[in-house]
Amino acid sequence: MSHPTDLTLTQAVQALQNGEISSRELTQAYLDRIERIEPDLNAFITLEPEVALAQADEADRKLVEFSKTRPESVLPLLGVPIAIKDVLAVKGLRATAGSKILESFVPPYDATVVERLREAGVVILGKTNTDEFAMGSSTENSAYGVTHNPWDLSRVPGGSSGGSAAAVAARMTPVALGTDTGGSVRQPASFCGVTGLKTTYGRVSRYGLIAYGSSLDTVGVLGQNVTDVALIYNLINGPDERDATSSHNPQEEITLKGNGTLQNVRVGVPGEYFREGLQAEVESAVREAIQVLESLGAEIHAIQLPHTQYAVPVYYLIAPAEASANLARFDGLRYGPRLKGENLRDTYTNTRGQLFGRETKRRIMLGTYALSAGYQDAYYGKAQKVRTLIQRDFEEAFETVDVIAAPVAPTTAFEIGAHRGDPLSMYLEDIFTLPANLAGVPGIAFPVGFDSRSLPIGMQLIGSHFQEQGLMNIAHCYQNSTDWHTMKADLYRTYADE
Ligand code: GLN
Repeated sequence: MSHPTDLTLTQAVQALQNGEISSRELTQAYLDRIERIEPDLNAFITLEPEVALAQADEADRKLVEFSKTRPESVLPLLGVPIAIKDVLAVKGLRATAGSKILESFVPPYDATVVERLREAGVVILGKTNTDEFAMGSSTENSAYGVTHNPWDLSRVPGGSSGGSAAAVAARMTPVALGTDTGGSVRQPASFCGVTGLKTTYGRVSRYGLIAYGSSLDTVGVLGQNVTDVALIYNLINGPDERDATSSHNPQEEITLKGNGTLQNVRVGVPGEYFREGLQAEVESAVREAIQVLESLGAEIHAIQLPHTQYAVPVYYLIAPAEASANLARFDGLRYGPRLKGENLRDTYTNTRGQLFGRETKRRIMLGTYALSAGYQDAYYGKAQKVRTLIQRDFEEAFETVDVIAAPVAPTTAFEIGAHRGDPLSMYLEDIFTLPANLAGVPGIAFPVGFDSRSLPIGMQLIGSHFQEQGLMNIAHCYQNSTDWHTMKADLYRTYADE
């Protein structure tokens, strides 16, 4: 067997269930690797190796028990390590959301997604780095330091699920959970050369997710390939009465078609996503990937999503508006540290003024302004109307095509500090990912090549509501006939060879 941290999630599950490796050995292998690489990457905010190993030992006991008694009913992920973005509640493990204001907050409960994965037998390795409250595209807004891109340590891993993406790319975990409010699963997946699924809004419970933009927030999965991502998706999707926006559509179990062709699959290519500002190498890699889909039998259609250009201003009104309301609860009284003042007002001001980061404060102010009396119709109300136009763009497109293929981001991973002091230029980086969130539709990002600096390039497929199965099948067909998703960062080779 190859080195344990070389295994895909699917292979790890098999190795555990066949008794080729114990959960303790596998977990320890990841913890050793994390210990060695983490100083370079800073992919995690919280690691509790002893807690992880205790879960592994418990899994090993159950594995033995299952192998003796009823092997057919073994828990699907028994003994498999996983990392969780630090905006999701894991009982007993600190959840900071990348913020100082939650530095000492330990949730007394599990998020629904975490609960479902625990029921499936996972071992939680730790909590991954994120931009503060998931507000960002680079992890540079984390109060716990930037995460470095495993392909080039001077560059960002993307964000806000940058810790999860970097950890998967550097094989510090077989798979990780992330969240996507405006691209935070897909863009870091693309920057780090891994596969990332953004689910349909409402398909996966948000209970236990520290809310950012409640009408946009979705939980997603980052892994080495579509098969691994589907394995996790199958366990976490489905209704949850603790999340009022959770869809009543029954839980679905996706089976990926092995060598399916793409006959009768209509792929739309939106002209608006191939305009100036798109790095030439990104464009050519994405166009080549579209040709691969065509060679597998897909029909390619040019389509239009005419309101794409409004996605940035619309999103950057709606998301901060919702954030300003959601973040009102962090007042120094209920969660985390309190910077006590002379009176209640001072306590609020000290705590919020000193413990929220710059970007978070900017968004609270923007959002409060957009919602304030006299301006609400002009800003928030107007943004909601344009959001409807963006949704209609997708509805119309999906009358003629089954999926949309497009770049994930205009460029490959940028240098740490490239957008420092210029939030607008950072927001513009999100142009290709925001529309799917505004429409609530699913998307999957996966690697389709490299630029001349050997940085990964990603493509996304966007589908209609609840079309995760279709999206994953197409991406799976692509991965069956290409090997970009198997490429590993140099960092990886250096360390693995030791
Ligand atoms: N980059 C976007 C933002 O800053 C999206 C972040 C996300 O999806 N959580 O809000």
